[in-house]
Amino acid sequence: MLDPITITVVILLGVSFGMIGATLSKNRKTALLLNEKLSEAQREILLKQFPRYGVIPSDLRDDFEGIVNVLMHRKRFVPCGGLEEITEHQKVLICAQAALPIVALPHHKFYPRLKSILVYPGAFRDRGRRRWGISEEESTHSNLGESWQTGSVILSWDSVVAGAANDDDGMNVVIHEFAHQLDQVDGAADGIPILKNRAAYKRWVEVFYRNYEKLVEEVEAGKGGRSFLDPYGATNPAEFFAVAAETFFEEARDLKIKHPDLYAELSSYFHLDPASWDETYSSKLTDSEWNPKSSS
Ligand SMILES: [Zn+2]
Repeated sequence: MLDPITITVVILLGVSFGMIGATLSKNRKTALLLNEKLSEAQREILLKQFPRYGVIPSDLRDDFEGIVNVLMHRKRFVPCGGLEEITEHQKVLICAQAALPIVALPHHKFYPRLKSILVYPGAFRDRGRRRWGISEEESTHSNLGESWQTGSVILSWDSVVAGAANDDDGMNVVIHEFAHQLDQVDGAADGIPILKNRAAYKRWVEVFYRNYEKLVEEVEAGKGGRSFLDPYGATNPAEFFAVAAETFFEEARDLKIKHPDLYAELSSYFHLDPASWDETYSSKLTDSEWNPKSSS
């Protein structure tokens, strides 16, 4: 008969092997999803509703589509505020925008703290302060997106659609909220994501705080309406990072001209140079690989 210690060891080994097996299986599934391409129907949705999709450089296309697949299948989508379900169409539009910031980011782990994406049809009641195409009055009691360190992002579907369609106004609720997730990976919402080494942290803090404090000064002096960066970024360093990320992906060229140091830091962090993407915009859209209609 086995003694209690041996029984305990056997049980622990069983649990450990079970956990290792589950992890391997999860990793295998993720690898399979990463290798999958989007369907023609999904590409068509993105080409129509998310113009940024058409300008992603060719060497990033496969990774981009794989990340969209992983996010679609690995995150839990929760319909809220009267929505009955989150459709495949809604998932692909949300995940494509969420995939953009991490398409070249090393060790991103697909937003590891994020478990659930809650979607409301329109603005949801909350303590929101930012306006996305709604009146000042409405903005005092409604919000269009939120990111929580506890593992969820809350989005308004109307704003997801508007943010995807208007790709050069510097406002994109999905990129904004998922940038918060990147900031929060280390457990602190402080506008400082995980960087590669000490020198990178030193440079980031110097560049980001210089630009953040300049924006705060402009807003305090009543010049927020004329600032290039959204005055909402002056709320705190975490919001500044989220606003800077939106601007980086939507107004890259202007950001590079107006805040070259900030652009350089973001470019180094995301491993991307979106200011160079627009030049190939029209040729990419007519490229047969990117045009589902002409590729059939
Ligand atoms: Zn925010």
